[in-house]
Amino acid sequence: MSEKTVVMPPEEIARQKGFLLECAELLKPRFGEGHTLLALVHSYGCQQNTSDGEKLMGMLAEMGFGFTETPADADLILYNTCAVRENAEVKVFGNVGELSHLKKARPEMLIGLCGCMMQQSHIAEKIKKSYPQVDFVFGTHSLPKFPEILRDTLKSQKRVFQVEESDGVLAEGIPVHRTPGVKASLPIMYGCNNFCTYCVVPLVRGRERSRRPEDVLKEAREIADAGFKEITLLGQNVNSYGNDLEGGLRFPELLRKVNGVPGDFWIRFLSSHPKDCTKELIDTIADCEKVCNHIYLPVQSGSNRVLKLMNRNYTVEWYKELISYARERIPGVMFTTDLIVGFPGETEEDFMQTLSLVNEVKFASLFTFIYSKREGTRAAKMEDPVPKEEKSRWFAMLLDAQRKIGADYYKGYVGKTFRVLCDGKSPLGLAGRTEFNAVIDFPGEESLIGRFLQVKVVSADKHNLTGEIRAVE
Ligand code: SAM
Ligand code: SF4
Repeated sequence: MSEKTVVMPPEEIARQKGFLLECAELLKPRFGEGHTLLALVHSYGCQQNTSDGEKLMGMLAEMGFGFTETPADADLILYNTCAVRENAEVKVFGNVGELSHLKKARPEMLIGLCGCMMQQSHIAEKIKKSYPQVDFVFGTHSLPKFPEILRDTLKSQKRVFQVEESDGVLAEGIPVHRTPGVKASLPIMYGCNNFCTYCVVPLVRGRERSRRPEDVLKEAREIADAGFKEITLLGQNVNSYGNDLEGGLRFPELLRKVNGVPGDFWIRFLSSHPKDCTKELIDTIADCEKVCNHIYLPVQSGSNRVLKLMNRNYTVEWYKELISYARERIPGVMFTTDLIVGFPGETEEDFMQTLSLVNEVKFASLFTFIYSKREGTRAAKMEDPVPKEEKSRWFAMLLDAQRKIGADYYKGYVGKTFRVLCDGKSPLGLAGRTEFNAVIDFPGEESLIGRFLQVKVVSADKHNLTGEIRAVE
């Protein structure tokens, strides 16, 4: 572990566990002995946030809470917020505003806000001033101290605001409440060192902190033993996993080790930064039978000029070379990417290069975002002359191109049989996903949810694939 990675000492974890018990006691007089405590935890944004939400739920479960999705039934509501784009923030303010009538009707209920938005002091200040219904606020770096923050709120009967200015700590041993199902996520690292000029993540999640391989593997084994059929390894840039660890173990090696965990499950990982995506990683994906043949490789733009302005540190040529190498080494590999439309100073010519990259690579799917100005980032100071309407027009062109690519892929799947993880119901009976995340609906018994199946695609329209089970594995 590098000197910079601060690990929360076991005594501090134990102290927080003590606060869990204290909270359980303090909650009794507030809600009445024998009352069944219910919490609603909602995580906005990315899978990392959802994974943090599982830890918050784990801690709440140890305090005696069950869970609900209905705000009116909840004794405690915790919104785990996202700051990546402005519209996520607007949504949070709207949703918190709507809670004021619940708090008026039941003043004993507890309302808390945490996550990336709250790590920004100007947002925490705004909540303090304008949203009196909120009882406690804490930023991303204070997550392991949630029990103490709730204890202080309950004990002082005052509002508590805790936004720690730090690079964040690595805390092991926090209980995790995983929603039962077929898929589980497994964080392998936190934070980001890349400082892409548009992105607020390094400002709110601190520097990269890699979990020790033995901790990751222990959790991977627990997940597999619990019967989950898909494990997604999470990090803002999983390819730089291990840079802060002593001993030199890097992401490809970790992937091989997770692949060696006994059990029949798929492995996915996200996100991969193209600048750190090596041929060694691609060879590892090719070798590891549990790792899905689907690479999520956010490119952001098809223009080298814009990539430079974004501080992405790779070129379009580098990106295409990676794709060609992967296609040679991994038969049938598919790619998904993120794209930002309307970065400050992007011209129509730059945008056309993005469009031609999309048409050339033919991604399985795209996550497309219109650029959103984020306070504190370098891009927020750049000239941004392109009008919103023009950016929306470009955005629509990208979606249209992807719709055609998707429809062509779907047509080509008819008659083919895929290995599918059945993960839920559909109007036809069941639904399952292929390794590259295409959803197929097919008839079948509910008892097959959570099983790997061979499913033949029998028909396709623009948005849906319909299939028939050929074999149950
Ligand atoms: N670490 C990941 C990576 O580098 O690909 C991405 C993490 S970020 C939470 C997810 C996506 O949000 C990014 O890939 C980017 O496309 C998008 N994004 C981030 N900041 C944005 C901004 N200011 N405006 C629009 N989209 C943004
Ligand atoms: Fe944001 Fe770039 Fe880090 Fe991804 S790699 S989280 S886009 S700064």
